[in-house]
Amino acid sequence: QKTVLAGLKDAPSVSSDGSKVELAANIGSPKDVKSALENGAEAIGLFRTEFLYMGRDSFPTEEQQYEIYSEVLKAMGTKPTVVRTLDIGGDKELSYLDLPKELNPFLGLRAIRLCLEMPDMFRTQLRALLRSSVHGNLKIMFPMIATLDEFRQAKQLLLEEQEKLAAENIAFNKDIEVGIMVEIPSTAVMADLFAKEVDFFSIGTNDLIQYTMAADRMNENVSHLYQPFNPAILRMVKMVIDAAHKEGKWAGMCGEMAGEEMAVPILLGLGLDEFSMSASSILKTRSMIASLSKAEMENHTDTILALATAEDVKNYVAQLMDK
Ligand code: PEP
Ligand code: MG
Repeated sequence: QKTVLAGLKDAPSVSSDGSKVELAANIGSPKDVKSALENGAEAIGLFRTEFLYMGRDSFPTEEQQYEIYSEVLKAMGTKPTVVRTLDIGGDKELSYLDLPKELNPFLGLRAIRLCLEMPDMFRTQLRALLRSSVHGNLKIMFPMIATLDEFRQAKQLLLEEQEKLAAENIAFNKDIEVGIMVEIPSTAVMADLFAKEVDFFSIGTNDLIQYTMAADRMNENVSHLYQPFNPAILRMVKMVIDAAHKEGKWAGMCGEMAGEEMAVPILLGLGLDEFSMSASSILKTRSMIASLSKAEMENHTDTILALATAEDVKNYVAQLMDK
């Protein structure tokens, strides 16, 4: 089976009825790129940049960040590379950043909220990203967007950094796609309006599930409520994908769910364009997609979304897959 999968390394990801999707890898540092490519990644769907800021005693400089982003972009060549701006806070702390202690850090000052509070830090990252954009196919993604206003503010800072670079005659790609993670229910619900302003969505189910179900993703006491297959989650995923397509944009998913065997058929039927997962799941997902008919899965989506419980959804898909 391993050799069969290896044969799919450089193959496109196509369903049995000829629909193409993109299978991408999630990475956390440049050293993950090799394994992503060896496992047949067509893109990097999520480059978590937190590692750059962790395990050190001061902020990384623009130059240090530029080097790292460039290294990844060069290694990926023309393949798309979605870099997520800093998603610190919540459970991830920085020793050199003295943040107020919060009662609910996951509902607190984290990710884009923190970046907008600390624009100088954020601008440094944006500038490093823009400069690196000449080395590959960069897309920029903002995490934890809850309101359109946050997206507009972040985009504005990016535009300002672009203007500064242009004034300094420093090269950058002027057509970078700028998207958001959809990991907060308010954003999923408002996806139709977001879709007019963003270039793409990437659904972050790890957080979207915890915020929708109000079940801490690390808390074992409520892990029974952490339900990727709850129809509430699936309905939101559908809203996001439909909203993107209505505006001619693409929708991906970079939460763990994108590589889950039982989820892939549903997501294919819902029209997901890009699936981003740990590198080790890519080949088996490609093989699975080759065995699935997208049109047939589309025919099942209304039934699936009308089911009452996560259990019902899993049973329904299991039955389909058994046939
Ligand atoms: C997510 O929330 O689904 C996600 C991909 O981001 P992280 O796991 O880094 O929070
Ligand atoms: Mg997240």
